[in-house]
Amino acid sequence: MNVDKHLKRCKNCNNWTDGKLDNCSFCGAELDAEYKKEIQKRNDLGDPKVPLIQIHEHDPFWVKIAKRPIQVAQLIFYAIIAFLIYLTTIFAH
Ligand SMILES: [Zn+2]
Repeated sequence: MNVDKHLKRCKNCNNWTDGKLDNCSFCGAELDAEYKKEIQKRNDLGDPKVPLIQIHEHDPFWVKIAKRPIQVAQLIFYAIIAFLIYLTTIFAH
């Protein structure tokens, strides 16, 4: 039988169950719940959801000129923040 590859141990009931399923086939507990939470956390950190200044097509020429360096400064700022978050995740472990 070729089942060992996909088996996962359920943290709730300790039975080995099909790892392709989202929930344990014995007790129904969600498999990989902590893993999914961790992924969700990383997605939240990776996407700070801070809006960049938008350059619109209908903006006057001088507005586009003025917005460009602000946008670059924002990108650099967010890159530094992302790097700091990256550092804290390294040292947190
Ligand atoms: Zn279970």
